[in-house]
Amino acid sequence: MTMNVSELFGAKVFNDETMKERLPKNTYKSLKKTIEEGRALEIDVANVVAHAMKDWAIEQGATHFTHWFQPMTGVTAEKHDSFIQPEEGGRVIMTFSGKELVKGEPDASSFPSGGLRATFEARGYTAWDPTSYAFIKDDTLCIPTAFCSYSGEALDKKTPLLRSMQALDKQAVRIVKLFGHDDVKRVITTVGPEQEYFLIDSEMYDKRPDLIYTGRTLFGQKPPKGQELDDHYFGTIKQRVSEYMKDLDEELWKLGVLAKTKHNEVAPAQHELAPIFSTTNIATDHNQLTMELMKTVAKRHGMTCLLHEKPFAGVNGSGKHNNWSISTDTGINLLEPGATPSQNAQFILFLTAVIKAVDEYQELLRVSVASAGNDHRLGANEAPPAIISVFLGDELEGIVESIVDGTDYVDKKKKLMSIGATVLPGIRQDTTDRNRTSPFAFTGNKFEFRSLGSAASISGANVILNTIVAEELEKFADELEKASDFDQALTDLVKRELTAHKRIIFNGNGYAQEWVDEAAKRGLANLKSTVDALPEFASDKSVALFEKHKVFTKEEIMSRYDIQLENYYKVLDIEALTLDAMTKKDIMAAATSYQRKLTDLVLSKKDVGVDASTEKAQLERASELTAAMAKGLEKLEADIEKAKELSDTYDLAKFHHDVIFADMNELREPIDELEGVIPSEIWPYPTYGEILYSVK
Ligand code: ADP
Ligand code: MG
Repeated sequence: MTMNVSELFGAKVFNDETMKERLPKNTYKSLKKTIEEGRALEIDVANVVAHAMKDWAIEQGATHFTHWFQPMTGVTAEKHDSFIQPEEGGRVIMTFSGKELVKGEPDASSFPSGGLRATFEARGYTAWDPTSYAFIKDDTLCIPTAFCSYSGEALDKKTPLLRSMQALDKQAVRIVKLFGHDDVKRVITTVGPEQEYFLIDSEMYDKRPDLIYTGRTLFGQKPPKGQELDDHYFGTIKQRVSEYMKDLDEELWKLGVLAKTKHNEVAPAQHELAPIFSTTNIATDHNQLTMELMKTVAKRHGMTCLLHEKPFAGVNGSGKHNNWSISTDTGINLLEPGATPSQNAQFILFLTAVIKAVDEYQELLRVSVASAGNDHRLGANEAPPAIISVFLGDELEGIVESIVDGTDYVDKKKKLMSIGATVLPGIRQDTTDRNRTSPFAFTGNKFEFRSLGSAASISGANVILNTIVAEELEKFADELEKASDFDQALTDLVKRELTAHKRIIFNGNGYAQEWVDEAAKRGLANLKSTVDALPEFASDKSVALFEKHKVFTKEEIMSRYDIQLENYYKVLDIEALTLDAMTKKDIMAAATSYQRKLTDLVLSKKDVGVDASTEKAQLERASELTAAMAKGLEKLEADIEKAKELSDTYDLAKFHHDVIFADMNELREPIDELEGVIPSEIWPYPTYGEILYSVK
């Protein structure tokens, strides 16, 4: 059966078209206003919307509804209620009120709150975000909502994102007005997140408790063939994977997700899906849905989708590229070099704001991508380094240099152009010079923040991006609104700020040691691990920034800081316990039975007078490795006990990073070596080779 994509697309979404069709004109108008102007929804309007939504959902086969929200766990949460309401005579009717649409009260006491919700106040509430359409998933009407405590503190990932978009909107509108765009009512940020993932056969997955409990393998030798030949990247997609991708696209399209590009990634079994960009808020919701569906659709195909940043040591890990730009409601991309000098002056000003923001708040950007999983990638030679820098490409860097030096810009065709606010060159979109090693790269009409981990919500990174750029735009607007000579003031500002912040611009190889040294000379931060990075989020500078723009209160920051530290050490604790259990039980047993076989062989060879030196050497090495394993296990167990004496979350996170993580790495060394010599019929777990090439 062929699919009719245009008919299919958004079939399960209560989108604008459906609203227009199903709502009385007046209701539709007030709802639109609410959406466009971010106003509160009146209850009588909500009642009408809820009724129409319910009828539509029931026609689609839905029986339940849920407020769909994004608590601090990083995954989405839902609590399903059915539409039924008992009637006299044992009958039921299907109802859904405006109140149920607008507000929900999940018993939220088990979600992480970092101490924000006192025990006497165990309930938070969810509130509909009408800017994100309701949709049907698993016969359930899902209503995208924000999740707050009763005193209004954000307990989720959506609320601060919406607040940060408002902060940027407010300041960016001031700037575009200065350039004469009086018709602009709103400025939004847009995001297209490219999502990497692994697909393995579920039979292999089920045999690896480490994958089941932690999402990554805790030991295993690199397969003889990994990504060395680069033959997987953009390679022919296997039939089974292709069927999966088709199925996934179909499911995503029904939900209105603009899934666009799919291809194989560099590592064996690694793939990527990229959507067409949308408003940051929608892109974030849709990325959550994408990750969820990637997993559920894989199950249908007998496969398991791994979203962990580093499922296999020594094999390329997975990230997410956050393509980000700023756009007006009139459709102007503010990070697109324009055709006229005036448009270019505006572009240069926004570019300067981003450069300045990234330089001044590089630590916060680093924090925004920090997690136990992503620590395996950042700074390892496969993903952008832990040092944040900006890549501009040759042409734009040339322009920035001539602005800083006050010289004329000579373009590649050797044409001389003078740089002033109103006499900027026609800037071409530079799409050729792509530097894959840069964490934050300008790619023609947007910035690509490439340090994000594959498993995390993109909310955190975008909250920070939006807020830091809002901060710089505010300062720029304050200065320029007061200027008597706008062009002169603009020229001075751009020159001054680019001079002050050009240290963050780096076009070279971010993976090289020379860059680490050079960055240190430039005074750029190099926050190597999550534990190094997180305290920057709780710094005075950070609190001042977020409070000023009403994105986070100090309490919200402190609670999030605590939740992230706690999450970090809990992840490592689970990994440690899993490795401990797998080693103690099955791996030790395999090592023992391997040694017994060798011992028998050595003895029987001796009996018949045949040289047994090879087997004896093998036995000796196996015996050494087993001893090393036993020692490693003992140390790990002792340190797991030691951790229990700590109570401060930072101390716990630091201890897990410095000690437990090191213990695990030490323990896996003898295990990996043993895996290489113990015959497959004795080794209890599938190897990397077997797992990575399991999907035929
Ligand atoms: P690639 O980086 O692979 O060459 P593209 O540059 O076409 O691919 O786009 C990568 C991603 O960037 C896509 O998800 C695309 O929708 C997104 N993107 C394109 N324009 C914008 C924009 N103005 N704002 C945000 N994302 C964008
Ligand atoms: Mg890209």
